[in-house]
Amino acid sequence: MRVKVDDERCQGHGLCRISAPDLFFAREEDGNAYVKDENVPAGKEDEAQLAADSCPELAIEVE
Ligand code: SF4
Repeated sequence: MRVKVDDERCQGHGLCRISAPDLFFAREEDGNAYVKDENVPAGKEDEAQLAADSCPELAIEVE
């Protein structure tokens, strides 16, 4: 599974970091979310999907 954050859509709410704190991080400059690695580690797929489902801006894409 791969996960991406659309920086144009992200508004920095941080809900993704609550759902998946090991996958999403806040950028210092503006608080927008980013992932260090687009490849979701084994066992973290549900968290990645939960984060995508919880993002109010639909900024998280999983595939
Ligand atoms: S929940 Fe969505 S809008 Fe909020 S920080 Fe995460 S990716 Fe950005």
